[in-house]
Amino acid sequence: MFLQVSSEIRTKRIATCEACVYYNKTTRSCGTLGFPQNVGVGRTTRKLCGCFIPLKATLKIAKCPLGKWDAQIDADIMRLVVEFTATERAELNATEIQILFETYNKANGTNRKYTGCKSCVREIYAEMKKLAEDWQREQELTTPDPEPPTEKKRRRRAEN
Ligand code: SF4
Repeated sequence: MFLQVSSEIRTKRIATCEACVYYNKTTRSCGTLGFPQNVGVGRTTRKLCGCFIPLKATLKIAKCPLGKWDAQIDADIMRLVVEFTATERAELNATEIQILFETYNKANGTNRKYTGCKSCVREIYAEMKKLAEDWQREQELTTPDPEPPTEKKRRRRAEN
């Protein structure tokens, strides 16, 4: 399941990328296509994602690794999705199905009605799991590495 942004947002994202020094005009990618690469930004290291921008720009979960444009999905809701799908469940009980539908509707902005239909529940659960995995991958690719300690801090640590 790929939740998509509006065409206006997609157009704005692409325009931002096209004006970015890291945009590869030949492959239309963020840095080298398919190869995430580290770049120094100020005192931090960021990772260019290597994504094909015309596709990445359509995804609600996607965000620019340098913070030039953001995801269009609530991070708290995504954390719920991740939490809920973290455990492999053979079968969901009634309460879990209720939570599944509520979380699904929040993440998708839909109003899908609760049902005990096993194949519908399985389908929604699989969609949620895929969404959680995609979101986590995106977080890993776009979260900056922690700032390296300054020389002063390093010396202070060594003295203690
Ligand atoms: S995703 Fe961000 S860093 Fe990558 S090309 Fe677009 S604006 Fe630049």
